[in-house]
Amino acid sequence: MARYTGPQCRLCRREGVKLYLKGDRCYTGKCAIDRRPYAPGAHGQARRKISEYGLQLREKQKARRIYGVLETQFRNYFERAERQPGITGENLLRLLERRLDNVVYRLGLAASRMEARQLVRHGHFTVNGRKVNIPSYLVRVGDVIAVREKSKDSPRIKELMERAADRTPPPWLEYDESQAQGRVVALPTRDQIDTPVQEHLIVELYSK
Ligand code: SF4
Repeated sequence: MARYTGPQCRLCRREGVKLYLKGDRCYTGKCAIDRRPYAPGAHGQARRKISEYGLQLREKQKARRIYGVLETQFRNYFERAERQPGITGENLLRLLERRLDNVVYRLGLAASRMEARQLVRHGHFTVNGRKVNIPSYLVRVGDVIAVREKSKDSPRIKELMERAADRTPPPWLEYDESQAQGRVVALPTRDQIDTPVQEHLIVELYSK
């Protein structure tokens, strides 16, 4: 599956908020949005009135960028969310949260979703004992996500395992540091998803 490979900090500057796309760097003084808190490009500092459509579009772009999903795939998630019972916007966020790369990130086994995606791609994780190298794989309640035995000797994975041991995962996940594995105990409710997105604007955009 294709992914965005351009400059990450530019995306945060475009959205006007920290999207934490670069892991540890985002928490240092090197963060681009702290240093240049205006949109990128020649007219980035111009004051512009944003339309209702513009607001909806920006919210959708923000969500896509946070989860590292391209337009077509995002639209597919939306259509799937719409078919599910319940509130479409919440269903959409729940689907995005269930992605394996997001779960690895939420467990603390990667510094950013981008790193999580790369680690999954490189086959460092198993789901229910089987290697899964598809970042968009959707986990289910009861799934066990573990660091592959072979990968535990990698210096970066060791570092990340220590990092995960120091963190508290969101309430819908559990982490067992002795086994370097996490478990999905429930699907996340809206209040357990801290993504700074107003999902109703995305629903309005796609419902036009
Ligand atoms: Fe965004 Fe992180 Fe870059 Fe800051 S350092 S602008 S939070 S990606």
